[in-house]
Amino acid sequence: MTPQKLSLDAPEDLIPLYRGEMVYECIGCEKTFDIHQFLYTCPDCKSLLRIKNNAFSRLQEKPGQYWREVLDYRKMLNLPPLKGIFRFYEFIFPLFPLDEIIYLGEGDTPIVKSNPDLSELIGAEFYVKNDGLNPSVSFKDRGMASAVSFINYMIKKKNISKLLGICASTGDTSAAAALYLSYLDKKVVRSVVLLPKGKVTPAQLSQPLGSGATVIEVPGVFDDCMKIVEELAENYQVCLLNSKNPIRIQGQKSYSYEIAQQLDYRTDNLVVVVPIGNAGNVTAIMEGFLDFYRVGIIETLPLIIGVQSTHANPVVTWRETGTYVPMQIKPSVAQAAMIGNPVSFPKVSQLVEDYFNENFAAVQVTEQEIIEGMLLANRYGHVVCTQGGEAIVGLKTALKKGLIPKNATVVVDSTSHQLKFMNFQQMYFDDQYPPEYEISPRKELQNKPVGMNASATEIARYLGLKKKIS
Ligand SMILES: *Cc1c(COP(=O)(O)O)cnc(C)c1O
Ligand SMILES: [Zn+2]
Repeated sequence: MTPQKLSLDAPEDLIPLYRGEMVYECIGCEKTFDIHQFLYTCPDCKSLLRIKNNAFSRLQEKPGQYWREVLDYRKMLNLPPLKGIFRFYEFIFPLFPLDEIIYLGEGDTPIVKSNPDLSELIGAEFYVKNDGLNPSVSFKDRGMASAVSFINYMIKKKNISKLLGICASTGDTSAAAALYLSYLDKKVVRSVVLLPKGKVTPAQLSQPLGSGATVIEVPGVFDDCMKIVEELAENYQVCLLNSKNPIRIQGQKSYSYEIAQQLDYRTDNLVVVVPIGNAGNVTAIMEGFLDFYRVGIIETLPLIIGVQSTHANPVVTWRETGTYVPMQIKPSVAQAAMIGNPVSFPKVSQLVEDYFNENFAAVQVTEQEIIEGMLLANRYGHVVCTQGGEAIVGLKTALKKGLIPKNATVVVDSTSHQLKFMNFQQMYFDDQYPPEYEISPRKELQNKPVGMNASATEIARYLGLKKKIS
């Protein structure tokens, strides 16, 4: 619908007029810093930064019902910059003009009700929020849309003639960064990604290569790559696109805003189950619900359940023992979450201590459970990656532990597309897991193509078909 037609009834904020007063704020010493620079840690105390809107209280002057209407009307608009994560403009990054927003089709992903037979196997009905339906087929596009829109804005505002965007990645951040950066002016922007050699899937490696990025492979795991890009961002003029960049967290909050809107803003008894790797996503999800809560768009905070593999579980250990210790990880099929020292952990612990308290839990699942969670869900009509499988069996574990209230509405995050992780499916089908994964494939979950001659008769015999009687 056109804005002209809609605006007859719609609230005045249908097209965003409001502008925030955006600053970087240190989560340690709480000093604030001018937004018109690329900054990732506090120059004074080196803590992580978050984005603060000093004019947030102006949003609170209007009631939650008003904003619910704005967002629902906006959903009917066909203006591309407002079709994705910036439907929630005021809550993402209310700074730049709409025509500087980079929209590549991200966000607005569906929630799909669990197949009834699958619900029975897991122990409850739930929704899968399928973030594999983003342009680079993972949720990372949400944060990249905000971070790269900011880069676009800065290039214009500051007349920047050369800029190098860089990230370390378990595969999906680099795919998203390379995609979004490749949309900008190539004379100005260069895109570089750093990957742990052999620790991303073939699909994930092909994505930044296809987008024309410089792909650097180094030995080690993600945590090693992260240290290198942190050092580069500290000492050289580069723009860091990891979730340490707080503007990415802003975009990823859209995940929560969408869930709220998809449930008509009824969040009492809501449980959101999410895999945790570097902990950027779970941070954004908590912050997103908190924003909507503060403005009265939702009336209660949901229960957030983080899921980790027993092979990479520092957040679970922290939740169980009260002590956070970075760990040496073991190989995991939930490879995108295979991180022993999550960069955003300090934000998670603050959010939990200050706001979520008992509304945050963390559970762990085995590698066998994770891969079988993926295979099982996909057999019942879903399209989930290994991390999505991890979240689904995480729900099963949480149910067994009595963490899920009766009458809960459960949304499980499938963070990327099945096809990105099909090599793990294949290893299961072919009985090819090296021992360190601790996975023993079961016949009933395997599947293989059957070779036959090009003969209808032979195929019919194999399928046991009965002849038509005419
Ligand atoms: C990045 C990623 C994760 C982990 O998210 P964090 O923000 O690092 O916790 C999970 N699943 C997929 C598919 C990812 O790409
Ligand atoms: Zn500080």
